[in-house]
Parts: sequence; structure tokens; C-alpha cells
Amino acid sequence: MKILAVGRNYVEHIAELNNEKPDQPVIFSKPETAILKNNEPFYYPAFSQDIHHEVEIVLKISKIGKNIEEKFAHKYYDEIGLGIDFTARDIQSKLKAKGLPWDLAKGFNDSAPISEFISKEGIEMNNLNFSLDINGERKQTGNTSMMLYTFDYLISFISQYFTLKTGDLIFTGTPAGVSAVKIGDRLVGKIEDKVMLDFEIK
Ligand code: MG
Repeated sequence: MKILAVGRNYVEHIAELNNEKPDQPVIFSKPETAILKNNEPFYYPAFSQDIHHEVEIVLKISKIGKNIEEKFAHKYYDEIGLGIDFTARDIQSKLKAKGLPWDLAKGFNDSAPISEFISKEGIEMNNLNFSLDINGERKQTGNTSMMLYTFDYLISFISQYFTLKTGDLIFTGTPAGVSAVKIGDRLVGKIEDKVMLDFEIK
């Protein structure tokens, strides 16, 4: 399986990092070894002093497809979850300044904690609230109506370049409020009022 991720999909987050609004989706990938499941702790890596949380809605692809038309894209995912796109911001800033790929900053081990997945049945996908609390304090809130590119558009766009296969995951971008985590922090992520993620930084 593969993990594809979208950068710069929420306007207020683009502004907080002083990035330009993209004229097409910004896509990157993480390797399978980035996945962290079952609320296992995240161990702070030695190579960074500035790991940021980015809470994101994650789509799980339910059937193989490529060149998917936007109007059919909703048929290619049945379940959604919540994920954290952990980012070594210090490393990413250096790479960005040189115009180099982000892999070291985004794809390292355990950089993609994911929740259990829930059926999208009955969920209004383009008006969905999600949030992240750290140590009981609200850090990020998002609503999918604020995305520059909808889930269906993203699936259509991505599938022009990458054949999507059953079980592939798409991280759909983070809203504003990203900040550094530290050892001892407890991260709790919700979709609407449902706790999806609850784990510690060690
Ligand atoms: Mg992200």
C-alpha cells in the first residue's frame, strides 16, 4: 500500500507558514513504514528538534482505479479516519529553501499515526469537523468545507498520476494551528465529537 498526502489544502494554514496558495494540489508521499497504529506512542526522533503535528482527515481507498473522473471519485473510498502528518519542520524548512524533496522531513518512521477507520455512510463529507487537543488544550480545528480541493477532486487529480489501490491512504491536508510537540505530550484527535486518536509523545 502507499500513502499519498496533500500539502497546502487549507487557506489559513498556508498563511501561517507563509506559503503561496497553490494553483494545483501539492502532493507528496510517505512510505508504508511511516504508519503508526493502535494509539501506540510516538518516539521523538534524534534528528529533529522541531516536530510539528498536522491533524488531517484520511481517506482509505476501497477499489483500484486510475484516471478517475471527479463525479465517480466518491465510489473509490468507503471509510475515513484521522491521522497526524508529523513533520520535521526544521528539516523541511532547510529542504524547502534549497528546493529539495521533503522526504526526510515527512516520511520518517512513525510519521503517520492513523486511527481506526469508520464508514463514511451518513457523514456529510464536505462539512465535517475535526480537531486536535494537546494536554487538554485545543490546538487545531478544521472543517472540510474550508479545503481548497475537495476529496473527490483530490482523488481524481491524484489518480491521473498514481493508480490507486485498495487500502491506499490519502492524507487530505491540515488546517491552521500547527505547532511543535514535545516529549510527554498527549495528543487527542476527534472527528466531530468522536475520539479517534489518543496517544503520547515519548
Ligand atoms: Mg500535512
